[in-house]
This record gives sequence, C-alpha cells and structure tokens, in this order.
Amino acid sequence: MGQIEIVLGDITELKVDAIVNAANTSLLGGGGVDGAIHRKAGPGLLEECRKLNGCAAGEAKITGGYKLPAAHVIHTPGPIYRDGKSNEAVILKKCYINSMQRAVEAGCQSIAFPAISTGIYGYPIREAAVIAFSAVTEFLKTHPGCGMKQVIFVCFSSRDLGIYEEIKRQIEQ
Ligand code: ADP
Repeated sequence: MGQIEIVLGDITELKVDAIVNAANTSLLGGGGVDGAIHRKAGPGLLEECRKLNGCAAGEAKITGGYKLPAAHVIHTPGPIYRDGKSNEAVILKKCYINSMQRAVEAGCQSIAFPAISTGIYGYPIREAAVIAFSAVTEFLKTHPGCGMKQVIFVCFSSRDLGIYEEIKRQIEQ
C-alpha cells in the first residue's frame, strides 16, 4: 500500500505523469471532473479526443495533457449506477485496471484518480472507494516491476476524504 496516497483537492492541478478522467463514452467532454479537465487542458485535448471514436464503459484511452500540469490524461467512462446488480462493480473495477494498464504502457510512474462514477453517475462513494483500493492494490501486486511509484486518489470533498481514509485503514489492518 506504500505507493498509494489520498489527497483532498482538484485533480487538474496535479503535476503527475497521468491524471484519470471520469469521462463519458463519447469522450467529447461533459460536466464534473471531465468538464474541469477539458477547460484547463484547452481545445487541443478535445481535438485529440475526437479522433478516438469514443470509449466503452470500463475501457480506457490515453491522450496528451496539453495545458494541464499532468503529462497525460487517461479517459475512462465509468458505469452509470442503476441498482448495484447491473454489472456496475465489474465495470468500475475495469476502469481502474485498464487505466493503470494504459499508464504503465506509456511509462508513467505516477497517476492520480478521481472517484470515478461517484458524481453524476451516482455510484455510492463507499462501495466505489472499496473497489478503487482493491483494483489498484491487485494491479500493483500482479504487476511487480511495472514502474508505477505513486498512485494518488483525489477526493473532491472532505466527506469523501474521510471515507477513503477509513477504507485505507481497514484494508491495511
Ligand atoms: P461521473 O460521471 O463518473 O460520476 P463526475 O465528474 O460527476 O463523474 O464525478 C466523479 C468524481 O469526481 C466525484 O467524486 C466528484 O466530486 C469528483 N470531482 C469533480 N470535479 C473534480 C476535480 N476538479 N478534481 C477531482 N475530483 C473532482
């Protein structure tokens, strides 16, 4: 767990090798963290995204970071939360695993994740945070020597931060 950190803040301000965007399947921008990332990155990001022909939920595609401090953006559409029985957990896990995979392929040593699907898409934060931790931990365990030195979970509210810290403590015990 040594490589995993939790911070409170705005993901668009982080100078890391890659930030993850909780995108929608069109990859053409949206609200929430997606809107914030595109606003700060500038029009070059949307131009590159247009060439990607969208992305299925649970998959991940990488672009440049343009005017962001981060070198790359990894776009991953999360599941829209329905009832918890519609494959949401499987898709959410895939978002984290595939984002880690894209980052490692691009030689990234640091990556920052927002709480994918927990905003507009309605995924309960606690359940989503458990999946975030277990997916990243599993990836790091099964990819020793992948070069990833730092994984940051970015919480956008102090409530979310408290939940992430609680879950990290539980996992570490
Ligand atoms: P989704 O459609 O996947 O639910 P949202 O962007 O609505 O995506 O929300 C995902 C998470 O990102 C939420 O926890 C939200 O509070 C958070 N968020 C929104 N803006 C930012 C930001 N600038 N930096 C970090 N997290 C953010």
